[in-house]
Amino acid sequence: CGIVGAVSTRNIVPILVQGLQRLEYRGYDSCGVAVHVAAGHLRRVRGIARVADLAAQCEREGLQGSTGIAHTRWATHGAPAVANAHPHVSFGPEAREADERAPRVTLVHNGIIENHEALHAELAARGYDFASQTDTEVIVHLIDSLYAGDLAEAVRAAVKRLRGSYSIAVLHRDEPQRLVGARQGSPLVLGLGADGKENFLASDAMALAGVTDQIVYLDEGDVVDVQLGKHWIVDGDGRPAERAVRTVQAMS
Ligand code: GLU
Repeated sequence: CGIVGAVSTRNIVPILVQGLQRLEYRGYDSCGVAVHVAAGHLRRVRGIARVADLAAQCEREGLQGSTGIAHTRWATHGAPAVANAHPHVSFGPEAREADERAPRVTLVHNGIIENHEALHAELAARGYDFASQTDTEVIVHLIDSLYAGDLAEAVRAAVKRLRGSYSIAVLHRDEPQRLVGARQGSPLVLGLGADGKENFLASDAMALAGVTDQIVYLDEGDVVDVQLGKHWIVDGDGRPAERAVRTVQAMS
């Protein structure tokens, strides 16, 4: 239902949670956040709670990090339940003793993956364990299976295999200052932070009110590689793309 993501030099957990709060009016059944808490260490907090409860839980657990993603879910595949709440994670194939503290990839998704059953069968046969009933989980394992050291490349390869609608935001544990997004049939915007110190992704510019008013509306099929003070957009045909930066009106 809603997505927020950030790459920054400061702790962005409060910004992610605030972004979710600005999207709350759309309705949701669960929510969650995942951040790089240390080198090679992604951690998530999620639940079938209100965003305010998620914020309190993040506070209690001392969740902090300067790169992260967050989500409010409106379930389409799989009941509202903690196991189905985003962010989803991949530990890689044959991770039978999955260490919850060290996922390799984590992702949030809006939309519906129509070919999720075929992808599930293929990825399960390759040793991926599924922990949810969502259509979303195939995307995170697919990206893991295609990863060879460059998250944007893995996402570009993965979205070619997806049918349906999606906006996604993805992190890899080995690339702590990188956030990759993609969209097709669901909205996603890039928010450019001041001083080149931080950049954002969101399903709606409204989620970034008070954070930045410099917004790039991504086109259908775009994949965006978001880093500190820079970003690259590649269109659905794999060509580098320029998208206009718009100043959106300040929203309260
Ligand atoms: N289809 C996904 C799910 O059921 C995403 C739903 C959404 O857009 O919130 O988890």
